[in-house]
Amino acid sequence: MEKDPSADEHDESTMSKKQRKRLMKHQLFLERRKIKRQEKRQRKKEEKRKLQEEREDGGGTSAYVAGSFPKKFKSMNSEDASSLRIAIDLSFDDLMSDRDLQKLLKQVQRAYSVNRRAEHPVQLYLTSFGDKTKAKLQEIKCNYQQWNIHIKNGSYSELFPKEDVIYLTSDSPNVLSEIDESKAYIIGGLVDHNHHKGLCYQLAVERGITHAQLPITEFVKLNSRRVLTVNHVFEILLRFTESKDWKEAFYKVLPARKIISESKGGEVKKGGAANDGDLEEESGESEEVKEQVEVEVK
Ligand code: SAH
Repeated sequence: MEKDPSADEHDESTMSKKQRKRLMKHQLFLERRKIKRQEKRQRKKEEKRKLQEEREDGGGTSAYVAGSFPKKFKSMNSEDASSLRIAIDLSFDDLMSDRDLQKLLKQVQRAYSVNRRAEHPVQLYLTSFGDKTKAKLQEIKCNYQQWNIHIKNGSYSELFPKEDVIYLTSDSPNVLSEIDESKAYIIGGLVDHNHHKGLCYQLAVERGITHAQLPITEFVKLNSRRVLTVNHVFEILLRFTESKDWKEAFYKVLPARKIISESKGGEVKKGGAANDGDLEEESGESEEVKEQVEVEVK
């Protein structure tokens, strides 16, 4: 503890110039310390708030408590919400390694987080929600029970009329031009490093379901395959519903390293979102992408 110079100097009038100076200095010190402590408390409060937000996004404690939302989050039941249905089909958990299932669930968490921050959240469904997925979510301490989302054990086919369903798959010859809010768009919940190439397309064909791919080639030039992650597909759909502009949606969502856009002079420049929080499903893809970028630039 520092010595308080005012303690042994009772009467200011009898103080020497030196003593008075010392007292003033000490008072100044106390004042500054008070401000510093206040600032520290404020910083800690801010850090705590940020941590809490991150936990909510990452699946920790959700802020959704019986319909009460912090201002910036919107519920799927709010009047601002869209009626568009987007389902993540979680029927492929047996085809994935433990690690890939975990990656997929991180992508699902990201999609959920993006939706709750959206101006017009869509009706987000998790279908074919099984025990394996449930166990994994519990293992990664994800509080999905409190999410404002439609979680269904049954398949999308039991939930939506067949004529409403459009299965999204990069292997479809059909290209999406618009989004019809009366339809239900299905995203395959699969992280497979291309091991199950064409699986979702094949299943859609077998079941006689409408299928379509995103209009990537029409709007952007990618330096990797057209197979995107679940969260990117979800967010592209969401952004398109906001802007009705595919190009803008791709640029907002896809990471810069995935996009090559050619300017008029034929010069190649990179585009895309600066920080995507990419949850890449392709092992070793970044190396492959780097190589392809170099080839394109030459
Ligand atoms: N081999 C898997 C790929 C999984 S990628 C398959 O058979 O689909 C995860 C999901 O994202 C896909 O099932 C699909 O629904 C969606 N997806 C990825 N890229 C897409 C694209 N270019 N167009 C439409 N949907 C896409």
